[in-house]
Amino acid sequence: MSRSAHPAGPRHADVLSEGHYAAPPADLNSLDPKVWAQTVTRDADGVVTVGGVPVTRLAEEFGTPAYVLDEADFRARARAWRTAFGQDADVFYAGKAFLSRAVVRWLAEEGLNLDVCSGTELATALSAGMPADRIAFHGNNKSAAEIERAVGAGVGRIVLDSFQEIVRVAHIAQSLGRRQRVQIRITVGVEAHTHEFIATAHEDQKFGIPLAGGQAAEAVRRALKLDGLELIGIHSHIGSQIFDMSGFEVAAHRVVGLLREIRDEHGVELPEIDLGGGLGIAYTSDDDPREPHEIAKALSEIVTRECEAARLRTPRISVEPGRAIVGPTAFTLYEVGTIKPLEGLRTYVSVDGGMSDNIRTALYDAEYSVALVSRTSDAEPLLVRVVGKHCESGDIVVKDAFLPADLAPGDLIAVPATGAYCRSMASNYNHALRPPVLAVRDGAARVVVRRETEDDLLRLDVG
Ligand SMILES: *Cc1c(COP(=O)(O)O)cnc(C)c1O
Repeated sequence: MSRSAHPAGPRHADVLSEGHYAAPPADLNSLDPKVWAQTVTRDADGVVTVGGVPVTRLAEEFGTPAYVLDEADFRARARAWRTAFGQDADVFYAGKAFLSRAVVRWLAEEGLNLDVCSGTELATALSAGMPADRIAFHGNNKSAAEIERAVGAGVGRIVLDSFQEIVRVAHIAQSLGRRQRVQIRITVGVEAHTHEFIATAHEDQKFGIPLAGGQAAEAVRRALKLDGLELIGIHSHIGSQIFDMSGFEVAAHRVVGLLREIRDEHGVELPEIDLGGGLGIAYTSDDDPREPHEIAKALSEIVTRECEAARLRTPRISVEPGRAIVGPTAFTLYEVGTIKPLEGLRTYVSVDGGMSDNIRTALYDAEYSVALVSRTSDAEPLLVRVVGKHCESGDIVVKDAFLPADLAPGDLIAVPATGAYCRSMASNYNHALRPPVLAVRDGAARVVVRRETEDDLLRLDVG
């Protein structure tokens, strides 16, 4: 991605030479609809509102920091995925991106399925009424207790991730008198174009069984022999924050190649393939994600073409978007605290949260944008780094961004596109109390996950 320095931005060559910030937008008060949830706008007083509720009211009533989730937007995105894929495909929302009982109910109502990857995520899903047969259970190291719970609950599929697990799941299913529907997760040697630590289809990685060297074919051979398992398909997940469909093209080609081998060897045509998740969203105005209908069309064309070439019936496709559904639907609301201009460098703006509520910047070098949301301003753009309040110099929320130069303690700022992997990866570092998730819709806000309290933390500390 190329970035250009703006002459009206920072005034120092050493900062300019780093060059990894965008130019200031023409109007600092404007909110790019690409990165903000659908119902976000400014009211007549210049205060940002979401679902008709001003952020100043949210801060007053619920405190900061807080994750603010636009319910109408969440439902609209879930529905768009469901509609785009139609009746011949399934959309599994990847619960690890953000999971709460409210979200599970919305998904159930909108006709989506759900991926979980721990016993507790499974418990959350079941407790909110997601039918077990619409749940897929993932993970590279599922415990025997988790497998028992999943099989016992009747989950629609378990995605097998290793040779040991093939035997383990078969054994547990048999001992419970069940035949468990399973897929085998394979790694196809596709590297998605994204940060190394979040790419997951190299073969040198912990997930899946490599296609290379006939290992995936051997896994299929073993699974087909076991009475406790009903092998329904092959699974591939190639990475995250992907914009380019060509990775899926290669993955589908290789998965269908395996289906053909299976047909030739066993006379069995597996009925399903799962192409995973990983579709990108706009974190900043520079990102241009595709719409669900474009993705659905591309994937279905790729699979159909590959299957025709292999003379296979086209299997039922499933996909597992997490970030692409929930990511854009929420922002994090912070109050500005200390502002520290460093002569010749940049201005550090501290907020009342940080890496405990958004680890992605520190972990993946993720880029975010930020805006002043409690008022508008006509002041000059100021190059800032938004940092948290933790005892760690890598505690950065937004590396480089422009905010108005008259920014002051007590102002509210918000970081958009924090719906995915922020609350779900939040920590209690420095005994931070994890922020609440507020769902806003039609002029009303409600807490769907409450703020942690000191009592919550002290209760765990049994001395
Ligand atoms: C993480 C993950 C997903 C979701 O990834 P997103 O980038 O949030 O879309 C889907 N499937 C599997 C197997 C995953 O591990």
